[in-house]
Amino acid sequence: MLLSVIVPCYNEEESIPLFFKEMEKIQAKLLGRYQLDYLFVNDGSKDKTLDVLRQLSQSHSAVNYLSFSRNFGKEAALYAGLREARGDLVTVMDVDLQDPPELLLEMVQLLEANADLDCVGCRRTSRDGEPPIRSFFAKQFYNLINRISNVEMVDGARDFRLMRRHMVDAILEVTEYNRFSKGIFSWVGFKTEYLEYKNIERVAGETSWNFWSLFKYSVEGIVNFSEVPLSIATFAGLFFCLVAFAGGILIIFKTLAFGDPVAGWPSMTVIVLFLGGLQLLSLGIIGKYLGKVFMETKKRPVYLVKERSRAQK
Ligand code: UDP
Ligand code: MG
Repeated sequence: MLLSVIVPCYNEEESIPLFFKEMEKIQAKLLGRYQLDYLFVNDGSKDKTLDVLRQLSQSHSAVNYLSFSRNFGKEAALYAGLREARGDLVTVMDVDLQDPPELLLEMVQLLEANADLDCVGCRRTSRDGEPPIRSFFAKQFYNLINRISNVEMVDGARDFRLMRRHMVDAILEVTEYNRFSKGIFSWVGFKTEYLEYKNIERVAGETSWNFWSLFKYSVEGIVNFSEVPLSIATFAGLFFCLVAFAGGILIIFKTLAFGDPVAGWPSMTVIVLFLGGLQLLSLGIIGKYLGKVFMETKKRPVYLVKERSRAQK
C-alpha cells in the first residue's frame, strides 16, 4: 500500500536531508507493507530549499515536490499536499523533526490493529524548550476555544497525523479559503486516537512563529470556528441597558429625597469613554467576521504552484 508523506517546507535547506535520512530508516522498517510516497511542498522559501528538493527528487523516485509561487503559509501547503497525495494512508509531518518519525511506526501499527479507527494523531504532553509565558497563553487559548466553539480542539495536538483515505477526502470537501486545519481535522469527525510524546526541539533552522503571529493564529481559530464573539455586543448592550435603567430609578429617588446638587462629571466621562470603547470593540469584532466573508466571497485560490515534479493528481 502507498503511504503519502506530506511535508511543508519553508526555508528548510538544512533540515530536509536530516529529515529524509531519518525517514529512510522508517521506510526500511515498513518495507513489504507500505511504500512511502513523499510530497514536499516548498512554500515560497527564500533559501535553497527548492534546489535541495530538485536534487532529492532526481535521485529518489519516491520523492516528489510542489513549489509555490510565493509563501502562502503552512495551512496552504498542507491543503496542497492533501489534494495531491495519492496514498491509501496519508500523513502530514514537519520537516524539522519535531514530529518524531519513529512515531509514524506506532501510528501505522495502531491503524492496522483497529479497523474502525480513521486517524491517529499525536499530542505533546510537555512544552519543554518553549518560553513559559507562551505555554501559558497556549493553554488559555485551548480553554477558551473549547468553551466557545462546537469543535473540540485537543491541547498540544500537532498537525502530525496519519489518516485513512476517506478522511482525507472528507477534509478536501471543506473548500473554505480561511483554513484553520486544527479545527477542520476535528470538524470532519471520524474516529481519532492520540499518541502522546514529549516535546522535541527543532534539529536545524528557525521556527517561523513569534508571539504576535501565534496570537493572530489563535484569533483565526476563534473567528473560524465560533460565532460567540459576535454575540458579545448583544449581551453587553443588554447588560448596560439594565444598568442604565436601574441607575435612572436610583437617581429619581435620590433627587426626590435629597434634592439635586450638581456633581459627578468625572464619573460621567469615564462612562462615556467606556461605552465608546465597547462600541468600537464590537464594531471591530463584526469587522473581523466581515473580513472573513469578504475573502471567502472572492474565491481566490488558496495557493498557486509554480513548479512540480510530477503531473497534477
Ligand atoms: N512552514 C511552511 N510555511 C510557513 C511556515 C512554516 O510550510 O509559512 C512549515 C515549516 O517548514 C515546518 C512546519 O511548517 O515544516 C512547521 O513550522 P515551524 O517549525 O516553524 O513551526 P513550529 O514547529 O514552531 O510550530
Ligand atoms: Mg517546528
